[in-house]
Amino acid sequence: MAKIFCIANQKGGVGKTTTTVNLAASLAKENQRVLLVDLDAQGNATMGSGVEKTECENTVYELLIGQSSFDDVCTRSEEGNYDVLPANRDFAAAEIDLMSLDNPDTRLKDILNEVDDRYDFVLIDCPPSLSMVTVNALCSAEGVIIPMQCEYFALEGLSDLVNTIKRIRYNKNPTLRMIGLLRVMFDGRITLQQQVSAQLKENFGDRVFDTVIPRNVRLAEAPSYGQPGIIYDPSSRGAKAYKAFGLELLDRVRNEA
Ligand code: ADP
Ligand code: MG
Repeated sequence: MAKIFCIANQKGGVGKTTTTVNLAASLAKENQRVLLVDLDAQGNATMGSGVEKTECENTVYELLIGQSSFDDVCTRSEEGNYDVLPANRDFAAAEIDLMSLDNPDTRLKDILNEVDDRYDFVLIDCPPSLSMVTVNALCSAEGVIIPMQCEYFALEGLSDLVNTIKRIRYNKNPTLRMIGLLRVMFDGRITLQQQVSAQLKENFGDRVFDTVIPRNVRLAEAPSYGQPGIIYDPSSRGAKAYKAFGLELLDRVRNEA
């Protein structure tokens, strides 16, 4: 059975896509069979995986509304060594089109159920919203990974997301849980970041991952080469951190099993 995790935070630019792509590549390096699902019309996770989004005839949009099959849509990140359900700007229509379908909130869940035995991990890159698309991700997953920057308003946004997770658990997906908070783009020289980091630990305890992802320009450069950061420059601090994060997650999953 695949472990299905969504990488979510309703704020934009907090490192969701960077985390999804690099975690996928990191787990693949550990010989895990990984599927990355891009649920953002920006298609950044698709491009960051080395898949040209404008050349995708079939995307996760056609799959969700039932116009294409999984095998027609699924493609491969040759760079990252994992499978990808790609997205492009067509996906912007998904939010509205889903509404006219039966069971709009569990379309993705039903699709992933069918391919469950092909993967060890399914990682879903969520859009920056708490929309029907994000609800689809939360209904499919057993856990949520929340990347966050240690900034003043980060904690405020976090409570909205935690409440959404609780609501989904109560109404739709009783086994959904928060796997953990990942501190990203971290700069330990900044006192405020240290303070917020300490606050997170206080409030969430071991729900905060030990691994901290530093701010590192190599991670930001990698997508323009169509490569996950850990492939683009494996010796960079950012790459090493995401490799460590992959191992930490594997460890957690194995200890829980
Ligand atoms: P989101 O998917 O939440 O919108 P992204 O992963 O796209 O966030 O990250 C936003 C921007 O920050 C991107 O330009 C990305 O390259 C950059 N970025 C993400 N993580 C890091 C990091 N650890 N160090 C430096 N830049 C980063
Ligand atoms: Mg993104």
